[in-house]
Amino acid sequence: MGIQKIEVYSVTLAYREPFRIAPGASTESHNVVVKIVTDYGVYGWGESSPSERVTGETAETVIKALDKIAPTLIGMCPLRIEQNIELMDSIVAGNPAAKAAIDIALHDILGKTVRKPLYMVMGGYRTEVLTDITLSIKSPKEMAKDAVKAVKKGFKALKVKVGVNPEEDVERIRLIRKAVGENVEIRIDANQGWTSKQAIEVLNKIEKFNVQFAEQPVPAEDLKGLMEVKRNSPIPIMADESIHSPEDALRLIKAEAVDLINIKLMKSGGIHKAKKIAAIAEAAGIPCMIGCMGESEIGIAAGAHLAAAIKNIQYADLDSDLLLKDKLATKGGTKVKGSMRTFPKQHGLGIKELNYKILGRPLKIYR
Ligand code: MN
Repeated sequence: MGIQKIEVYSVTLAYREPFRIAPGASTESHNVVVKIVTDYGVYGWGESSPSERVTGETAETVIKALDKIAPTLIGMCPLRIEQNIELMDSIVAGNPAAKAAIDIALHDILGKTVRKPLYMVMGGYRTEVLTDITLSIKSPKEMAKDAVKAVKKGFKALKVKVGVNPEEDVERIRLIRKAVGENVEIRIDANQGWTSKQAIEVLNKIEKFNVQFAEQPVPAEDLKGLMEVKRNSPIPIMADESIHSPEDALRLIKAEAVDLINIKLMKSGGIHKAKKIAAIAEAAGIPCMIGCMGESEIGIAAGAHLAAAIKNIQYADLDSDLLLKDKLATKGGTKVKGSMRTFPKQHGLGIKELNYKILGRPLKIYR
């Protein structure tokens, strides 16, 4: 039972409209897809969606890291996931988005080998996952219109991007709450855009608009600022850019700097280490969310299976495949109905068919 072949593909996926958050806008997502083929006929799909701003990785660095990692995995048992991760970590440090692609493909293989949907293999705590939809930064009025559209589509939770201008940010939340009424969850994400002083001011002003939690108010490395915001905020504070790994989670929890953690497979290096973050957080009484970068249906399915499997992953922001115009998976993956993601009976991630025009030919084949 061994890994026989690894194929690496480079894909560019266009967003429906420019996706704007505090640090800048993107029009497309440059992802790397891997297919791991075993010597017993089972294969798995994985995906990397690197964010240079968050982990310093690009599609190019992911391909370079995989060029070092992939040859060493040939012949390894795909089910010995922790061994494979230990091996990857010994070959290259960092590069979590590159490692996530391998980790996700190994988990797909795990599900297909035992012939069950992945979330059932990993614990099967839930059968469906409620995801929010993200509202990209625009004028407060335009965002209120986008919010109404999203609610009409059936979304029960909105993730509102803020962090540009404190006054306008307050106005964004006021108009959105007014437009959607009280029965929709509103969570916000400043993507490091505020100072701690600005964050405390804004959060106190928007408390009355019933905001569920506020993500990454201050720069990732500003631990003191984050602690100060948490102490003075009436709204629970979630760390995103500040926490990549299980070690980061432990450090920030010890510092009492967070109420919640946003786990992303592209920061943690995949599902295996994401589970460790969720476990550390659970022991500290800290609920987690699973988020995403610009993943297609493959990476989003991985996040959704994880969220369904693990009790402490209580929130999901798994929407990038819906924000992308290009669909990489033409069949399979998770199903979306309103705010709910459900799982087909297919084994593993459940990805059945990819758009081979977008996928193209492999850039590299390792065997
Ligand atoms: Mn975030």
